[in-house]
Amino acid sequence: MIYDYVIAGAGPAGCICAAGLKRKNLSVRILEKNLPGYRKVCGDGIGYACVQALEDIGFPMDRLTDAGAVQIKQFIHYIDGKKYTDILSDHNKRAFGMPRDAFDGMLQEYVSGTLGIPIDYGVNVREIRTAAEGFDVCGITAKKVVIAAGAGAAIRFDGKTLVQPSGENPVGISAAVRAPAAAEPFFMFDYQKQYDGAYGWIFSVGDGEYNVGLWLNHDKKRLKKLFYQFMETRGREYLGDHIEWIREPRGALMGIGERRISPCEGIALIGDAANTSNHRDGEGISRAIMDAENFIGRLERTRG
Ligand SMILES: Cc1cc2nc3c(=O)[nH]c(=O)nc-3n(C[C@H](O)[C@H](O)[C@H](O)COP(=O)(O)OP(=O)(O)OC[C@H]3O[C@@H](n4cnc5c(N)ncnc54)[C@H](O)[C@@H]3O)c2cc1C
Repeated sequence: MIYDYVIAGAGPAGCICAAGLKRKNLSVRILEKNLPGYRKVCGDGIGYACVQALEDIGFPMDRLTDAGAVQIKQFIHYIDGKKYTDILSDHNKRAFGMPRDAFDGMLQEYVSGTLGIPIDYGVNVREIRTAAEGFDVCGITAKKVVIAAGAGAAIRFDGKTLVQPSGENPVGISAAVRAPAAAEPFFMFDYQKQYDGAYGWIFSVGDGEYNVGLWLNHDKKRLKKLFYQFMETRGREYLGDHIEWIREPRGALMGIGERRISPCEGIALIGDAANTSNHRDGEGISRAIMDAENFIGRLERTRG
């Protein structure tokens, strides 16, 4: 079978793009490097821009709470030590916290279970080749290809680099911890000069479960040290002295900055593979969703 599209990556960008292509009656198959249940390094924050982006495309929002998402009540923001607190319902805004394996799993289930789009797991797309009918992607033939393989995407086309991180991408670090449950689920961001301009965060993602992390635009070597410094200060203040590590701190590239891309007719890059994350706060899920939708919009205009 020759597909209209093959998508590399079943994250938010890949899933929403696949759903949009299906809406246009185009055939699509997704190839995903990891197995279901893989928990990628993230802050696990489904911010209000993301909720808005999902609502805008008519995503069935009750799936979020069905998948265990915690609705956030308070948004706490420190800027150089000065504290600002917002109650989200006062602003008619909704945001959620949930582990990324649950969020991505929910999108993948929607795409494959509800929309019937095939997802092949455990397929690492390293190379795309020209084929008589379009492209050969790991043995699947498609007329066009979308790369939605995230900030670490490193893929070749006919033996040449198509996309790879430039070395300039900032790195974020995050971990999952258990601590006494807060009365009100919260997002807490802490931007401090004392951490060299790093952003630290603590997000409620379950009952007594938190994502803690930090990202920095430069000086990756200091990231881990600053992360533990942050945990000693704000971590103790918000989570107490007795935290249990559920997932040790791990780092990952952020989809921000320059990227080495060699454009090629018939192959598109979307989401973090094209560095669409917000360079101010690192938020990227909503950007990935909107980029996927923009891609579908451009397609319509081109065909029109
Ligand atoms: C530490 C950290 C914290 C963050 N916190 C938040 C947050 O709280 N909220 C928020 O909105 N954003 C956050 N982000 C950003 C967010 O994770 C990304 O912007 C978002 O996941 C981008 O979606 P995507 O679909 O473009 O890429 P991804 O979610 O990275 O999905 C890419 C998919 O492609 C797969 N893949 C990769 N390579 C290949 C390959 N070669 N072949 C096949 N499949 C492949 C991957 O397994 C993955 O499933 C954070 C990022 C980091 C690093």
